[in-house]
Amino acid sequence: MRFATRAIHAGQPPDPSTGAVIPPVYQTSTYAQDDVAVHKGYDYSRADNPTRWALEQCLASLEGARFALAWSSGMSAIDAVLRLLTAGDHVLVSDDAYGGTHRLLRQVVARFGVESSAADLTRLDAVREAMRPNTRMILMESPTNPLLKVVDIAALAGMAHQAGALAVVDNTFLSPYFQTPLALGADIVVHSATKYLGGHSDVVGGALMTGDEALFQRAKFIQKSVGSVPGPWDAWLVLRGVKTLALRMERHQSNAFRVARFLESHPAVTRVYYPGLPSHPQHALASRQARGHGGMVSFRLAGGLAKARDMLTRTRIFTLAESLGGVESLIEHPALMTAASVPKDELDRLGVTDDLVRLSVGIEDPDDLVEDLTQALA
Ligand SMILES: *Cc1c(COP(=O)(O)O)cnc(C)c1O
Repeated sequence: MRFATRAIHAGQPPDPSTGAVIPPVYQTSTYAQDDVAVHKGYDYSRADNPTRWALEQCLASLEGARFALAWSSGMSAIDAVLRLLTAGDHVLVSDDAYGGTHRLLRQVVARFGVESSAADLTRLDAVREAMRPNTRMILMESPTNPLLKVVDIAALAGMAHQAGALAVVDNTFLSPYFQTPLALGADIVVHSATKYLGGHSDVVGGALMTGDEALFQRAKFIQKSVGSVPGPWDAWLVLRGVKTLALRMERHQSNAFRVARFLESHPAVTRVYYPGLPSHPQHALASRQARGHGGMVSFRLAGGLAKARDMLTRTRIFTLAESLGGVESLIEHPALMTAASVPKDELDRLGVTDDLVRLSVGIEDPDDLVEDLTQALA
């Protein structure tokens, strides 16, 4: 079966007891047993829940993985991946990884003796230099946030494996519809299901996928021990969102192309970042390793912070808000909002400066989106 079909059917046969076409929300914490050691596959909902199980089967199928686990948030999935490590291990992470990932590594995980350092993962020579004898994981995103840099997933996975390290990809920005890192050699994929997988800005969730049974068993054990599970309603909402992932991603992408081309031709815009544009420095790599370029567009404005602030408060359809990947278009200022947990000098070095604006292009009518940006930039 192909992607759009699997998104609707994988893990979701009609309910055997009632014929319900849609998996029910199993709002239960516990399950009646036949005997002290005999149950119907479920004993307690921190360990397993049928609604969550349906979501996990579907997510595994979409990512081309043998196994998937659903989490209470993207951060809890990333936290679980880091708990695969031991004190003394080192993680190499993208210098412009999601701000919450940097915060987790530096302010939480570091206290338990897991070291981390950041490098520009688009430069393989910089990666080679940054690898340490105790590097046990390369944690990458592609495209990155907010500058949409594209890294060579297959090359980085190769370098990780050569060093005896795991290659982990946060695939939130493209979703499995456009990119499947396990097929490029990654060991583990994580997602903020809050974004494109859920797709409607109405749920916080996470996901982890892998083809490796031992890694899956360890992550499952961590989840059961730590308890970072999504409730059945949240699992159900993500499963409902995923059914339209293929349709939504196509529209996010065509709208993003339209917006990116409009911005590129606008006199107030000095630079546009979208991997689908031939002007993007890694356009060729992006086109080779992914099947599409997604719905995120960043750009720089002549006039710096004053102009950016002015624009951010003048859009009528683009809502000024953090997050991304929902049906509605959002606009935000990375330096002051989503990347604000990263120190200012680091942001300056990365190019996340006051003139930078990020869009999550939704699936509204593209004419309305371009008209809205036109009036906000006037
Ligand atoms: C939002 C996001 C996260 C964190 O996910 P939550 O669901 O908010 O916990 C991690 N990685 C990326 C790329 C994100 O965009």
